[in-house]
Amino acid sequence: MSATLATASYIGATILFILSLGGLSNPESSRRGNLYGMIGMTIAVLATVFGPNVTAAGYAWIIAAMVVGGSVGLYAARVVRMTQMPELVALMHSLVGLAAMLVGFANYIDPAASAEFVGAAKSIHEMEIYIGILIGSVTFTGSVIAFGKLSGKIGGKTLLLPGRHWLNLAGLLVVIWFGREFLQAESIADGMTPLIVMTVIALLFGVHMVMAIGGADMPVVISMLNSYSGWAAAATGFMLSNDLLIVVGALVGSSGAILSYIMCRAMNRNFFSVIAGGFGSDGGAPAPTGGVQPAGEVNPILAAETAELLRESKNVIIVPGYGMAVAQAQHTVYEITKVLREKGVNVRFGIHPVAGRMPGHMNVLLAEAKVPYDIVLEMDELNEDFPDTDVAMIIGANDIVNPAAEEDPSSPIAGMPVLQVWKAKTSIVMKRSMATGYAGVDNPLFYKDNNRMLFGDAKKMLDEVLTALKA
Ligand code: NDP
Repeated sequence: MSATLATASYIGATILFILSLGGLSNPESSRRGNLYGMIGMTIAVLATVFGPNVTAAGYAWIIAAMVVGGSVGLYAARVVRMTQMPELVALMHSLVGLAAMLVGFANYIDPAASAEFVGAAKSIHEMEIYIGILIGSVTFTGSVIAFGKLSGKIGGKTLLLPGRHWLNLAGLLVVIWFGREFLQAESIADGMTPLIVMTVIALLFGVHMVMAIGGADMPVVISMLNSYSGWAAAATGFMLSNDLLIVVGALVGSSGAILSYIMCRAMNRNFFSVIAGGFGSDGGAPAPTGGVQPAGEVNPILAAETAELLRESKNVIIVPGYGMAVAQAQHTVYEITKVLREKGVNVRFGIHPVAGRMPGHMNVLLAEAKVPYDIVLEMDELNEDFPDTDVAMIIGANDIVNPAAEEDPSSPIAGMPVLQVWKAKTSIVMKRSMATGYAGVDNPLFYKDNNRMLFGDAKKMLDEVLTALKA
């Protein structure tokens, strides 16, 4: 394939990626967005493999790598459960970071790659390598720790080293100092020491940054690592002089940054303190370990009584959370919604920006169950309506309806806006036990007089509610 055709294909792929992002911004057009992305990626891979930079000798390696990578991807896509998606995404981000790191080292060591550049161009190329490895390393370890935290392999508790901001600042200064040493190095052997020192610091910073994040603040970190992985890919593009990788990396990097900003606003956290790492604990005490002792008496309710309350209501707001995803209860939720709407009950869904374990988690599940979009509302759109609501039905949600966020300044989730379900005439919480949510904090909602607890698996309990409603 000629260089011109490869460039034209790259431009076509870039346009498809932009259309893909546009499509993904709305549930109705998201399928089309995905399709554009798939076509764009196919064109990008073909144009790269058959492009001018690959020699015939390289094909065996590329095919072998594609077979191995493709098989792992196919296997992971088949076995992963919807609830494991967030951790899979975190793992994938870590691979982008690792790739950027390895490409950086390979590029520096490769005599052919370095011989291409002289004078100022050489310094610029080395700067690209240094920054590429830096971003890649932070993304790599940060995402591995995020994977550990999301999959429950590492506890959600914050690790707060004494003087952590000073540690970060010292790390940054050392990285800048060694960057200067690296650029002044006479030979590759001389440059290796500063490069390795920086890499170790960057790897440690990635661990430190995510370990310091409190449970409920994880969503911000996930979207931030998403953004970092984009910048790592862009850095790889600079190192390999690949325009498409630069553009695509910048698209992922900037859309991830916008998402991080949206998540920060949703969590009421400061964007810049997130970038510095180690936030999420200043708002209150770290979550205690080993679970929290329940504080008070709760009022249980049966499925049949729940159905009765729903049937007699005029206004119902359903608040889904992570437990609905675990129980895969979205289809039954929709069946109940249909029955209630047929009876003239005004049913709406209240979606918290960090409900579930990834941005848009609940919207995806409800769209899958074909819940009409016009009754699925954002938290801000219906938070004021709870006082006029007869029943607020909370399905497998916990942190996002915790009044402590508003009432207890010492709570680890203090300051986070929540759905004010306790203002409804009756709130019904559907969950299996008194266990805490992701943030590991007790929920005073459970002990309020107007709250009822419907204990059990969300799918099973909702099936019972549906049967009772139809009876
Ligand atoms: P939570 O994790 O706060 O609570 C979920 C609740 O669901 C649990 O208390 C659990 O209680 C219950 N549950 C689990 N399985 C079932 C089941 N099969 N049937 C019924 N209930 C079940 O989830 P929320 O959605 O309320 O809040 C999200 C939390 O996750 C926030 O803290 C957020 O910061 C964090 N987070 C969000 C991310 C995002 O991008 N959205 C990413 C990372 C973290 P029990 O065990 O008693 O059943």
